[in-house]
Amino acid sequence: MLGQIVVSSEEIEAMLERLAEELEADFEGKAPVFIGVLKGCVFFLTDLTRRIRSSVELDFIQVSSYGASTTSSGSVVLVKDITVDVRDRDVYLIEDIVDTGITLTDVIKLIEARHPKSIQVVALLSKPSRRKIEVDVAFLGTEIDDLFVVGYGLDYAEAYRNLPDIRVLEE
Ligand code: 5GP
Repeated sequence: MLGQIVVSSEEIEAMLERLAEELEADFEGKAPVFIGVLKGCVFFLTDLTRRIRSSVELDFIQVSSYGASTTSSGSVVLVKDITVDVRDRDVYLIEDIVDTGITLTDVIKLIEARHPKSIQVVALLSKPSRRKIEVDVAFLGTEIDDLFVVGYGLDYAEAYRNLPDIRVLEE
């Protein structure tokens, strides 16, 4: 059952404005490639990049995550690889939410194997109390408590991704 709003669409708007400014300030002397981690990134990535005035290249990677459960399986499988050559490029990994940090750590390893110049993480949400592996989130929308949330790209068994606000999913 859908519960209360955790991050409203107005709050998301404000985060997008701030993050777009922070990112553009970071682009100096760089050739940025944004790699979205599918599928949760889609709304965040498109709304964020539309607020950026300089050119960024876009690509996507997909790894298996929670499936139909609300607890992490703790292992990640590559479902869709990137196609852009990221060698010597400045990569910004676009994630919906960082929970245990397991997914992101594995995705970073996959990208690092292609020898980019740099990799930085851009995440809309983070649940620091759930972290099992420390990951550096260089650009963050906001921290949230240990709740399972849906909406704005985040799903439960593929449902709710299209909702404009981020809400808690209750049992
Ligand atoms: P991690 O590997 O950091 O534990 O999990 C990252 C992935 O788990 C996210 O990209 C997302 O797909 C999923 N995930 C983690 N927390 C939540 C949550 O609260 N709601 C939803 N819908 N997915 C989550």
